[in-house]
Amino acid sequence: MLTQRPRGTTDLLPGEVERWQAAEETIRSVFRRYHYGEIRTPVFEHTELFARGVGESTDIVSKEMYTFLDRGERSLTLRPEGTAGVVRAYVENKLYGNPGLTKLYYIEAMFRYEKPQKGRERQFHQYGCEVLGADHPAVDAEVITLNVHLLRTLGLQDLHVELNSVGCGVCRPAHKARMIAALTPHRHELCRDCQQRLDRNPLRIFDCKNEHCQAVLRTSGAPTILEALCDDCRAHFSSVREMLESIGTAYEVNDRLVRGLDYYTRTAWEITVPSYGTVAGGGRYNGLVAMIGGPETPGIGFAGGMERALMLLAEQGRDLRAPTGLDVFVTVADEAGEPMAMRLLQDLRAAGVTADRDYLGRSLKAQFKAADREAAKFVAIIGETEVQQGSVSLKDLQSGEQVALPVSDIVSYLAEKVGVQS
Ligand SMILES: [Zn+2]
Ligand SMILES: [Zn+2]
Repeated sequence: MLTQRPRGTTDLLPGEVERWQAAEETIRSVFRRYHYGEIRTPVFEHTELFARGVGESTDIVSKEMYTFLDRGERSLTLRPEGTAGVVRAYVENKLYGNPGLTKLYYIEAMFRYEKPQKGRERQFHQYGCEVLGADHPAVDAEVITLNVHLLRTLGLQDLHVELNSVGCGVCRPAHKARMIAALTPHRHELCRDCQQRLDRNPLRIFDCKNEHCQAVLRTSGAPTILEALCDDCRAHFSSVREMLESIGTAYEVNDRLVRGLDYYTRTAWEITVPSYGTVAGGGRYNGLVAMIGGPETPGIGFAGGMERALMLLAEQGRDLRAPTGLDVFVTVADEAGEPMAMRLLQDLRAAGVTADRDYLGRSLKAQFKAADREAAKFVAIIGETEVQQGSVSLKDLQSGEQVALPVSDIVSYLAEKVGVQS
């Protein structure tokens, strides 16, 4: 047990972690271009926030949360998703008092008790954003475009946007009544989950993976939510579509794409890759801020899994930036070289050059081997001779060329060779 990490967790080791850093940098730079600010919320929140903000009836809340009592007997939960915490912070810090839109993004660890499998961990990571304060369809079109832009900049290919509108508090109750009327005579033909959905939230029957339920939906004449939109929702949806077209963001309408909870309104989308599945998804949630106790505020956002995106990138043969090796490996030929070697190492690092050395007192040959293993670009050799002559021998490991330089020139020479701006 002591040497085994908990199920569903990962150690990110040097080598792999560079891929994550590159992905995170890309994600941050794209969000910055759209004028988003980063937010970091607590890893745990009051359980009630997720019960309300994610929804009691969801799998996340009913089956997958890491919930515990702290020493003061408060029920706390490790965050299973990003939106609830961000919206809570928006309300608590009164960000709605700021003029204009609030545009926030995050890249954070999330926790869900799920059966671990490839690409699905119990501690996993999501990037995502929330835009609060406007219902304008231009926001929807821009956020969807940003979602695609971000994945494309990471290097993902073959991305498809599936788009739908899930209506609002005006059109959804009428749609619900029509679904119940159409499906109740076929109740016994639905799967057990869908029989429950029929009572609580019939819209989510569109979500069922069961072929038979989908067939019942088709033959019963139950309308899709898209067919039942009120005039305002219909106008909003067609504006979103027009704006996506003027930006040049391709999409397909998928009228079976639903988000079942009451506070989800209007635009919903998923970004999918054929033969792989969904890589990110988002939607509008005009009811959420008020539901957790803030002022009526429209909102929209998306989220995607880091592990999933990185796995797909590798599958598509698109590796992120290769890990950078050492610029310089300083070999110490003998004890007399120690002071000069230590000084040189620090001067190199201060100048922005990546440098390391051998600390095990190994032979020069073994040190050269270590330099090779670390993929160092240069090897500096320092020993008694170098100290006496005030010069350092430098070997370029790619060309094999060797030069001796005055010790005072070595830092600026290497800084220029490895392209460091001082
Ligand atoms: Zn509506
Ligand atoms: Zn079903």
